[in-house]
Amino acid sequence: MENDDIERAGRLILASKYVVGLTGAGISVESGIRPFRGPGGLWTEYGEPPMDGYQRFLAAPKASWERRVKREGYAEELHEALGKAKPNPAHYALAELEELKILRYLITQNIDNLHRAAGSKKIAEIHGNFSKLRCIQCNSRYETEEISLETLPPRCPRCGGVIKGDTVMFGEPIPIDVLKICQDETGKCDCMLLVGTSAFVYPAAGFPWGVKGREGMLIEVDPYETELTSSCNISLRGRAGEVLPRLVECIKVKLQEAESPL
Ligand SMILES: [Zn+2]
Repeated sequence: MENDDIERAGRLILASKYVVGLTGAGISVESGIRPFRGPGGLWTEYGEPPMDGYQRFLAAPKASWERRVKREGYAEELHEALGKAKPNPAHYALAELEELKILRYLITQNIDNLHRAAGSKKIAEIHGNFSKLRCIQCNSRYETEEISLETLPPRCPRCGGVIKGDTVMFGEPIPIDVLKICQDETGKCDCMLLVGTSAFVYPAAGFPWGVKGREGMLIEVDPYETELTSSCNISLRGRAGEVLPRLVECIKVKLQEAESPL
């Protein structure tokens, strides 16, 4: 990738008032996390989970928890991989952009907890976080170890509601608190940085179009062309772990230049 493209992206980001990131599976591939779909995908190998997974959970939460505790099917492989995965340079670069107060918010479709592990704090996990549990009644989140699994399904210590994994299942609505943050942040955003996502799955798919519809800018980081490429102002072709650290470096140099005028 040309330095010119990084330069242009850096200038565009610094000229923007409110930069929001949107990340998908592509950013975590370099951390050894298998994607769900496509070649080598978990669902390609094990079959897609039922489209009415959430309804099945609601109909029989105890049985669903028993399967989870026994780690049947691909869940075992997935959880083992997720538990071992470490953030890669792309995750750290986004955390640094937040620290520099350039990146205002990060919306991720990933459940792998790697953005938080890298230090990102302002983050909305639209599909939940595999390492957390959530009450389906009051949306309180809990660390896995906070909740006893002696009686299944576990109940919320705050409201007594049924607790499930925080990961959003097929057929399950995006938790309303997270969705509201995403809508608010996208509404303020005048430059969206898309990393490793084809933004194919709703609601994430709608966010870039919302920004675009208000004349905002879209910058894409992806090794491949995506559905969004033709709508992006800049497309940085390459692995996120390589491109994002270069972009952050470029932005830091520009910030220093701005601070010390000759
Ligand atoms: Zn609750």
